[in-house]
Amino acid sequence: MGGKVTLSIEVELGWGVHDLDAAPHLSADGSAERAYLSRLLNCADALDVPISFDVVGHLLQSACDGSHEGPHRDGWFDADPGTDASVNPLFYAPEMVRDIVDRPSGHELCTHTYSHVPCQTVDEETVGWELDRAQSQIETVTGSKTVSIVPPRHSRPSSETLREAGIEIMRMSRDTSDKSRPGRLVELLYGPHPTFEPRLVDGVVETYCTAYPSLTSSALPSGQRDPLAPFRLLPVRVRQSLQRQYLSRAIDAAVETDGHCHLWCHLYDLSNQYQWPVVRSFLEELAARRDSGDVRVLTMAELNDDFREDEAADASYADGGADRPHAAERADHPRLDDATDHENKERVRVYD
Ligand SMILES: [Zn+2]
Ligand SMILES: [Zn+2]
Repeated sequence: MGGKVTLSIEVELGWGVHDLDAAPHLSADGSAERAYLSRLLNCADALDVPISFDVVGHLLQSACDGSHEGPHRDGWFDADPGTDASVNPLFYAPEMVRDIVDRPSGHELCTHTYSHVPCQTVDEETVGWELDRAQSQIETVTGSKTVSIVPPRHSRPSSETLREAGIEIMRMSRDTSDKSRPGRLVELLYGPHPTFEPRLVDGVVETYCTAYPSLTSSALPSGQRDPLAPFRLLPVRVRQSLQRQYLSRAIDAAVETDGHCHLWCHLYDLSNQYQWPVVRSFLEELAARRDSGDVRVLTMAELNDDFREDEAADASYADGGADRPHAAERADHPRLDDATDHENKERVRVYD
């Protein structure tokens, strides 16, 4: 047995906020995000740690004329510059995606839709168009479609539309906060990071994440943006140390329960000198604990396969078919249900 750990990182650049006002979290020309992606990929190569990268489909293009004939509302693509990567590197980044795919660590390209639509704000036709378009882009780069999605702002698409687009696994946020504002600040500093098992919802496997980025610290700058004022009172080293402990304990929890731990952030979150050393140090620990047999590190696609194989084996065991010696042991660790899963949209950060 042992725990399972999944890492997923949103790559969206300018598309993450193109329907909002400003982008104070991004570097002006995407250079910081590109530099830290290279560092992250080099580190993952050295440690052989695979990551699911949730990519906005439009970034896979090297250029466009700014007109995309989808069923979106008027003005949806107004922020699309209609130029190319050399002029607007926050809206086109095919070389970043190519770098992810070409690395030997088995990273996964997961979709974050084509143009970062919050799925519940548009009709099914638009979601379908977004997914078809994103799948075509991914297929061009990898040779096959992805089975994985992280919906922008965790705005839930319909299972039917997902299945029609070939999606088999989705990451959704599960808010564990039910706390006062001070309680929330303490949770962001100390955790604990929750553990939820994958579950099947209407034919689509759901894996979870926290409503706040968990691989990076909310108490340190997110990309180019300062953290909340109360956190700035703490020395940077203290904040880094607390995040490092948060991450170690997140793995501990997965190991102790034979459970699943899913950590996430945006690429921009880790793209600064404060976050990156913590992430790198954590990846080293994760690889060491993987090597010692404590945990497996699975992409979302691998988690999907793992879950479905387990379900099939359990069904077979229930039918008296297969020998499944650890099934009883598994029953000692019932999957957590939805009791704490009340979606509190006010607490979901706007930049996810
Ligand atoms: Zn375009
Ligand atoms: Zn996003």
